[in-house]
Amino acid sequence: GRRRPPGTVAVIGLGRFGAALALELMRNGAEVLGVDTDEGVVQELNGQLTAVVRADATQEQLLRQLGVDEFDKVVVGIGSDVQASILVASRLLKFGHPEIWAKAITGPHAEILEQLGVHHVISPEHDMGVRSAHLIQGRVLDFVVIDEGFALIRCPAPEAVQQRPLDALNLRRAHGVSVVSVRRPGESWEPAEPGTVLYENDQVLVIGPTRKVQAFSDLD
Ligand code: ADP
Repeated sequence: GRRRPPGTVAVIGLGRFGAALALELMRNGAEVLGVDTDEGVVQELNGQLTAVVRADATQEQLLRQLGVDEFDKVVVGIGSDVQASILVASRLLKFGHPEIWAKAITGPHAEILEQLGVHHVISPEHDMGVRSAHLIQGRVLDFVVIDEGFALIRCPAPEAVQQRPLDALNLRRAHGVSVVSVRRPGESWEPAEPGTVLYENDQVLVIGPTRKVQAFSDLD
């Protein structure tokens, strides 16, 4: 098969989503090729990504010339222009690229991308709405969906689980959740041990069914 160097990512469409993603990938040490039709966008990111090219990615010949297929991962960040998003995704799938990520702006858009065979479809507005609901309600400080109905949260250690070692609290049986990490005030995150005792102002990372982690964070 084709050699796809690890840590190389092509990002097509450098709007708010694509640009933020590309810059974060750069910060994490990836090699990033950015592609966008907009000259202003290209100029703005020039020098901040490994390479930035002004091009219309719906043109198959152009995608080939750019060697997009030789990148480890390809992300389609085009959103508002749904037709362009679908066209670029379908071209990449035609090349047989094994790891295509694409952003969807609506439910039907996501459905079409999934139906086409895009490997990872991201719905930022939808997911951020869900996540924000958990941040707004109660004491959840961070919320990450792991799977349908399953989540990881960061929250203050509820008083009900303070002052006793975690193994004595039997959180799995009593609340259906696991405390996986603890941060004392002013310190860094440490793995939770069976003998870990939580105190006021500690924060915890808790994993489990969404309703149960939410209920855990609401304990008094
Ligand atoms: P966001 O909401 O993340 O800002 P947009 O959908 O508004 O996303 O922006 C997507 C970006 O994709 C824009 O910068 C736009 O210029 C770019 N874009 C749109 N169509 C194409 C295309 N055919 N080829 C390359 N880039 C494109």
